[in-house]
Amino acid sequence: MSQVYNWQLGREMSYPYEGKYPERQFAFVFNINRCIACQSCTMACKSTWTFSKGQEHMWWANVETKPYGGYPQFWDVKILDLLNQANPDGQTWGGLVSDNPKSLYGQFAGKTVFEAADKMLQPASSRVLGYLPPDEEWNSPNIYEDNPVGPKGVRYQFHQTGVELPVHNTWFFYLARICNHCTYPACLAACPRKAIYKRPEDGIVLLDQSECRGYRKCVEACPYKKSMYRGNTRVSEKCIACYPRVEGTDPETGGEPMETRCMAACIGQIRMQSLLQLNPDGTWAEDRYHPLYYLVHVAKVALPLYPQLGTSPNGFYIPPRWVPRTYLRQMFGPGVDRAMERYENPDRELLAVLQLFRRSNRIIFRYQIEEGPLVYEGPYRGKTVRIYNDTVIAFGKNGKEIFRTKVEEPLHVRPNKHQNSI
Ligand code: SF4
Ligand code: SF4
Repeated sequence: MSQVYNWQLGREMSYPYEGKYPERQFAFVFNINRCIACQSCTMACKSTWTFSKGQEHMWWANVETKPYGGYPQFWDVKILDLLNQANPDGQTWGGLVSDNPKSLYGQFAGKTVFEAADKMLQPASSRVLGYLPPDEEWNSPNIYEDNPVGPKGVRYQFHQTGVELPVHNTWFFYLARICNHCTYPACLAACPRKAIYKRPEDGIVLLDQSECRGYRKCVEACPYKKSMYRGNTRVSEKCIACYPRVEGTDPETGGEPMETRCMAACIGQIRMQSLLQLNPDGTWAEDRYHPLYYLVHVAKVALPLYPQLGTSPNGFYIPPRWVPRTYLRQMFGPGVDRAMERYENPDRELLAVLQLFRRSNRIIFRYQIEEGPLVYEGPYRGKTVRIYNDTVIAFGKNGKEIFRTKVEEPLHVRPNKHQNSI
């Protein structure tokens, strides 16, 4: 095992290979507060990559209802439980949430899936703690859809006190997921054939099917269960991050880097994807006006999914603001309280950057804000808020403007020649 630096854990950790980092890293931010579970993303992916015989159970992109749902069923509960069995009561965080980009969330004191591998509790890969889900657990991409948590955690019942922020007593939320194209992929670490690799140009994690022999070590090892086995070809498959679009080689892109199919299809406008530059130790190179750098490292509203697992996932989430904080801290780490406070009280810049989501399918590499007039001033939850109609401008890889949009949404009145006009 080598020692590599994991900034999401705020410390070095063991990994089977030496740290090697791409020129740029594929990454994304999902704003859970906006997801409506329309499953347009799920179907965009399915109809592009997994529509063939033998792929019926495969949903590289899926949206599940938390806390009861999961695809495969109970994937997160199961891996958290295995880690807890391997390290009873030791899966805790220490240190302080800080502004240090090398330890934003303090320091994880527990064991990752790599560090707990010597405590295997069932026959499995020797490099990564994991498990192989039985076939039936892959059957439903959104099992327990819309099932809320009621009083004292009881299912199917509504809490008598109704609903009021900051935390709802009856709650559920939608968790959209794809492969995280991790900085330290567990799938890659576990593959005895070295069939899985991380591309040096964009960090996208690919599985070479000509090298795969179907041992399913990647399926067992990926804690997010985003590597999947196909019975009729007897090899595994996984999300390829629509790499021809990201490269700009897909005919639809016109040569410009374009976001993946699941991002482009998102009706709720919850998704933004880009490529980031890394430092020699795998931390993010400072890029103040890159929208993802801003959301993760400056505003700190977007957090990694289960950072304690140790793969350094490159998928980040703005957590749902109505959900009990204890649940969110388990899922997104100790940065939750700071992220929620900031998201609920957005400043001028955050409000402008949030408008960048899904105005274009081109990948945004930089933004700029032009100040506009004050359009609202008034009380909001005990504070005075001011909203300015700023303009936010998005630039592509070549530095050219992609689009510009304003904080205030445009109002269109349909002329009364249309039947459904007011
Ligand atoms: S999410 Fe899973 S399949 Fe994707 S790179 Fe990470 S470990 Fe591999
Ligand atoms: S398309 Fe967007 S809003 Fe719809 S389910 Fe997917 S992530 Fe959620």
